[in-house]
Amino acid sequence: MNLKISALEYIRQVKSRNISAEDFMAKTMEHIQRIDGNLHAFLSLNEKAIDQARVIDKKIKSGEKIGQCFGMPISIKDNICIKDSKTTCASKMLENFIAPYDATVITKLKQQDAIFVGKVNLDEFAMGLTTEFSAYGPSKNPWNTDYVPGGSSGGSAVSVSAFECVASLGSDTGGSVRNPASFCSTVGFKPTYGLISRYGLISYANSIEQIGPLTRTVEDTAFMLNLISGIDPNDNTTVDNHNEDYLKDIDSGIEGKKIGIIKEMIGEGIDSNVLSATKNAISKLDNMGAICEEVSLDMVKYSVAAYYTITATEAGSNLARYDNLRYGYDFSVEGYEFNSYIEKARKKLGPEVTRRMILGGFVPSAGHAGKYFLKALKVKNKLTRQINEAFKKFDLLIAPTVPVLPFKIGEKIDDPVALFLIDINTVTANLTGKPAISIPYDISHGLPIGIQLIGNSMNDKLVLQAARALEKTVKLPEVPI
Ligand code: GLN
Repeated sequence: MNLKISALEYIRQVKSRNISAEDFMAKTMEHIQRIDGNLHAFLSLNEKAIDQARVIDKKIKSGEKIGQCFGMPISIKDNICIKDSKTTCASKMLENFIAPYDATVITKLKQQDAIFVGKVNLDEFAMGLTTEFSAYGPSKNPWNTDYVPGGSSGGSAVSVSAFECVASLGSDTGGSVRNPASFCSTVGFKPTYGLISRYGLISYANSIEQIGPLTRTVEDTAFMLNLISGIDPNDNTTVDNHNEDYLKDIDSGIEGKKIGIIKEMIGEGIDSNVLSATKNAISKLDNMGAICEEVSLDMVKYSVAAYYTITATEAGSNLARYDNLRYGYDFSVEGYEFNSYIEKARKKLGPEVTRRMILGGFVPSAGHAGKYFLKALKVKNKLTRQINEAFKKFDLLIAPTVPVLPFKIGEKIDDPVALFLIDINTVTANLTGKPAISIPYDISHGLPIGIQLIGNSMNDKLVLQAARALEKTVKLPEVPI
């Protein structure tokens, strides 16, 4: 049984009864048991997955109506709620938290007969970009297990790239889908803000984050988007996409499209291998009839500072509920006054989350807000105006997803600012609400490099079409697992 197939190929094969959902699931589970001790993509597994796959096969045999996923194994980042399953956010605070309801994306995938193979690792509460801040230990990059897989949706990217599932859902607040996709050589997509419901995603910085798919191909991402996008009465920030079919016309190519190369994302600090891969991608796009030209978004240089100021503020408020009363209960209030009680309760949170919460208490506080939080909002607005201006001239923008190659586990863990700066190429799409994709492009020194394409709001389809055109020109070696 070949597990190394795309989601669409899986569907074709199950539909034509070439393979059974049960066999594929059983093989997937076996494969996970064999390799995940080393990679640590999963935090928990769905014990019923094989039984659920058997039910799908029965339905197929008896000619019953069947959902579009045909029992395909999907992994889910552990900050997305699946009813009656543990949802830990890779935090000790939620170690025993059982989600009481399904996230909207989960409901939609269940309706389409997807099977959730398990919950996957992340940086605690999605804060980080290496998965090293998981309270349950880091995930490892399947391309070289000494290296970080990226994050915060590291488990999602590892599970897709190591064939432990066919597709995954992650969340992207400042790059958390695209960064690990780039580091593990998978496709990772952050849609336009509001395209996918956040209902049931445990909030980190809800004004800018989105759930997004990680897959092996661009077509698979379009397929997933078809299933999970659209308006949701449970999330008032969702937008109506009129049931857009993202797979339709995916092969239309990019002839005549104008593509802006973001100057600030290929400058100082960029790894030379990443730069040459980007130049190579640009010349291929040129050859396919696109018109590529440099464009400057000078607010990008303040984007990381603004991003961390805004996200810390939202995290400070979103995570205030983890007070040992509503969540994470393990000692009684007896013998404490308020401050000492909260202080003790919060000790369950790891160092990165603690850092963000302290920052998030300070930057929006009276007397400091003007200098930090309000200023950050101004940067966000100005950056949005600049990118909107750029989209008057260009159809798409291009940049490397991450300016550096994957680095070793432990290498940067003690240097939070160095880690923050690596987000320079991804946070712009979040701060401005634009759709952005990372596709596998190159392997250098055995480590993956991803290329990012950014589109204008609600132009998600064009982003996918361009990504598909570029993807067709790429032939990469197989992941050495
Ligand atoms: N590295 C960024 C952060 O730590 C992005 C995280 C994310 O997108 N969830 O905030």
